[in-house]
Amino acid sequence: MLFGANVSTAGGFLRAIDRAAAIDADVMQFHAQNPRMWRPYPYGDDVLAEFAARMASHPTVKTLVCHASYLINLATTDPGLLAKSRAALTHNLEVASRLGAESLVLHPGSHLGAGLAPVARALALDAVASLDAAAERLGREPCMLLLENTAGAGGTIGRSLDELARILELASGDGRLGICLDTQHLFASGVPYETLDEADAVVGAVARTVSLGRLRCLHVNDSKVPFGTNRDRHENLGEGFIGRRALGSLLGHPALQGLPAILEVPGTDRRGPAASDLATARAVHAAGRRRWRARLARGGAATQPPPPTPRRAQDGRTSSRRDRRPAGSPSPPGLRR
Ligand SMILES: [Zn+2]
Repeated sequence: MLFGANVSTAGGFLRAIDRAAAIDADVMQFHAQNPRMWRPYPYGDDVLAEFAARMASHPTVKTLVCHASYLINLATTDPGLLAKSRAALTHNLEVASRLGAESLVLHPGSHLGAGLAPVARALALDAVASLDAAAERLGREPCMLLLENTAGAGGTIGRSLDELARILELASGDGRLGICLDTQHLFASGVPYETLDEADAVVGAVARTVSLGRLRCLHVNDSKVPFGTNRDRHENLGEGFIGRRALGSLLGHPALQGLPAILEVPGTDRRGPAASDLATARAVHAAGRRRWRARLARGGAATQPPPPTPRRAQDGRTSSRRDRRPAGSPSPPGLRR
């Protein structure tokens, strides 16, 4: 498992790499544009070239995941907001892809009380259209677009695996779409994973709904709010209502070991995830792995990971829009991560 954190892009994309390396992150996540403004970051070919060079000079930072703007809402019925959302998603996909990100994480949006059913198809088709538009501008397929589960507040879409699975299904199983699971959102939306059995039930539910091949990223956060309260409030690992044991139960699951695991926590000094927060995450993971190994040694069951599929390219893209089959796991577990 690759551990990393969401890092600030203050001062530019290049500074983000330095920050990720300084906190000992294997994977970094940052926003492809200011998450609360429509204006895109200005960048040119010179920045892209420098970015690639800086990544090469920090080999401990192995991969990049980008996060899309929070303003994007593909489920809105406001035509102006929808047009802006489509354009921003295409732009975010383009920026993330040019930077070499393996995926772009998107909060699917809010139906503002109308329910998922009336907006699901349009949302799915808009996501596919944005991927197509980005492909056109890039002259190649963009990075994967990952829909993130939500804590379930208000009319947010993605409060359950069934909702995410429904959107992927309406996108005709487009191989460029996947999901990102956030541990805090899962807990706040009322999904328990304290014990190994409960964690296996979560992984089994992923396998039955969206399929494990489409789960491409984990956001690893503790919760400032109690179980099932539907609020999106992150806390440092071990300092919230989820706790180290439950996080270990999930992170240690054998089927999840190929995934990037990204912290989006306030940080021990409240200035974002620090090296100590990543050390905690790795320790929580190691403890969870020990418990899982002991269970398997006793003959206990675990949902199996999907069969690995070879990487087509080093940037993590494994399938094209014409590949309607769910993609396999990002890399053979235990090989690189
Ligand atoms: Zn998240």
